[in-house]
Amino acid sequence: MSVRWGLIGASTIARQFVIDAIRAQADGEVAAVMSSSQERAETYARENGIARAVSSLDALLNSDIDAVYISTTNELHLEQGLAAIKAGKHVLCEKPLALTSADAREMVVAAKAARIVFGTNHHLRNAGAHRAMREAIAAGRIGKPIAARVFHSVYLPENLQGWRIARPEAGGGVVLDITVHDADTLRFVLDDDPVEISAFTQAAGMAGGGLEDGAMCIWRFGSGVIAQSHEGFTTKFAGTGFEVHGSEGSLIAANVMTQKPVGSVHLRSASGEEELSFDREDLYTRSLRHFHAAVRGEGQPAATGEDGVWSLASAEAALQSSNTGKAVAIDPQLGGLA
Ligand code: NDP
Repeated sequence: MSVRWGLIGASTIARQFVIDAIRAQADGEVAAVMSSSQERAETYARENGIARAVSSLDALLNSDIDAVYISTTNELHLEQGLAAIKAGKHVLCEKPLALTSADAREMVVAAKAARIVFGTNHHLRNAGAHRAMREAIAAGRIGKPIAARVFHSVYLPENLQGWRIARPEAGGGVVLDITVHDADTLRFVLDDDPVEISAFTQAAGMAGGGLEDGAMCIWRFGSGVIAQSHEGFTTKFAGTGFEVHGSEGSLIAANVMTQKPVGSVHLRSASGEEELSFDREDLYTRSLRHFHAAVRGEGQPAATGEDGVWSLASAEAALQSSNTGKAVAIDPQLGGLA
């Protein structure tokens, strides 16, 4: 039996990665696309070989689909997610799940009550590099983890310099866009949850409307690990990376905060330096593979709804910290949800 997908949002990310990832599944089919404009829906459908183009959520949800992929601008995720859940469709939702963690929790609660599969498309935990780091830490290869550093300041490509840098009401800004990914990747690699964050943000010349296009965060995790992360839209030559430093070794990953299965991971310890090999499966294909398995009743999506609430609660705390000049506790308030 195939999983028939409806795309909510004629987006860049669906065109660049997710449509292919659905089609890479033996049982995956992209059945329809919804845009707020019928003309854009039809153009997008034609360009991407999708049979059906619609411009209303009802029309999409009433069609013969099993699951929806939500990749509209961030302010729309909540209403579209709740409607899809109500219609009994499985939901893979882009990050941030909503504009507030309270709204994200509402979706996760509704999905649980409706017994549908709900996932957050945090692609980075699907990267072989991050899985190799998580496994090395779990195997004790760096001893006791002490600190982590995330380098995730990029240059936002010109074709994406729209709502992200101009529309606060659409959930723009680098914190909702990239800090959420760093929150999720830190949680995944360290297998630990953040408890507190302190952040400085800046507008370095690209973002307007009061939005931030750069952020530096300092995190404290439950185990006592501290971390720093740098997110940005305006640095053309920074490169990306992820490091975890422990009592017996350090993991140094370069070029791994990206959408592609690239980069390198080195383990440095008293015995020297070793390059870790890792699986190079496409990140989005792996995300969809796990989602399809969950639809069959096997396991969970790679990143669950709860993971999406965690990352948004972290981003929210970062913004609050930046606004108040104080460290802020991170509490996704998931108690009672399990
Ligand atoms: P886009 O700007 O490409 O698309 C978002 C919406 O903008 C679309 O749904 C579309 O609305 C509208 N839009 C697109 N092109 C046009 C146009 N030419 N004219 C008018 N409106 C247009 O966003 P992204 O694909 O970059 O991001 C979408 C979501 O995915 C966000 O939530 C983002 O955070 C997330 N994302 C996640 C990534 C990941 O790796 N997990 C990577 C990139 C984004 P309509 O549908 O009504 O046509």
